[in-house]
Amino acid sequence: MTTRHTGTDATPPKSACPDCHVGIGQTHLEGCDVARCLATGLQRLGHAASCRCPQDIWTGRWPGEADCAEFGWMLGPGLPDLTRLLTTATWDPVAHRWTRPSKPTTTTEGETR
Ligand SMILES: [Zn+2]
Ligand SMILES: [Zn+2]
Repeated sequence: MTTRHTGTDATPPKSACPDCHVGIGQTHLEGCDVARCLATGLQRLGHAASCRCPQDIWTGRWPGEADCAEFGWMLGPGLPDLTRLLTTATWDPVAHRWTRPSKPTTTTEGETR
């Protein structure tokens, strides 16, 4: 067990999706801006019509926010560094989550605010 939890950085979960308004644990409606393609981790609106990914679920958090918090990639409270996530992390289409590159570039770089 590790205690590398940052905890307070994350915003409290929202009970409904800001775009399609489904509740936590429900699948996003078709055309929702927030829903992700679970094959690529990118916006579902942009995925190919032939994509066979399963429906994404509203978790109460903006997609990627929990991953940023876990990786310590926060710009500030409630401000996940999603750009860094998209450019640096790799989407795992099986686990439906982001994974950090196995070789960390630098360890002290994140303090720039
Ligand atoms: Zn939605
Ligand atoms: Zn897809």
